[in-house]
Amino acid sequence: MKEKNITAKIIVYSYNELTEEDKKLIDLAKDATKRSYAPYSKFNVGAAILLDNGEIITGANQENAAFPSGTCAERTAAFYASAKFPGVPFKKLAIASFTRGEFQANPVAPCGACRQALLEYEHLAGKPIEVLLYGSNEIYVFRGGIKDLLPLCFAEF
Ligand SMILES: [Zn+2]
Repeated sequence: MKEKNITAKIIVYSYNELTEEDKKLIDLAKDATKRSYAPYSKFNVGAAILLDNGEIITGANQENAAFPSGTCAERTAAFYASAKFPGVPFKKLAIASFTRGEFQANPVAPCGACRQALLEYEHLAGKPIEVLLYGSNEIYVFRGGIKDLLPLCFAEF
């Protein structure tokens, strides 16, 4: 028998410690929560993706009465980014959530399905997508990319 360890490095920031670029991306993710359609969960999520070409694509969760038909903010942004700028790598992704009249105090993390979808774009680009998870108390930054958020992922690539 042998044991293996899985580790991920999280850097914890306050908003004021972020670079101007990161503040802007967080601000855009927060703003995108206003465009969420979440009448069922009332959990409004916004995502902002900075592409290597400098463009920023935002997305918000879009729910549906037929629950599986909805889409998360992260995949809304990622699929739109890839459809609008095919093949352009994602540099950074910021996520924020707003519910019960305020932004979540603790960082909000992407669901498993979004991690899997984002991982494929990361793999295609051949470099990590930096992930910024916004909470009003603290912000988590993963410089190691999506693979740090999804160890033992499913991959055929
Ligand atoms: Zn998701």
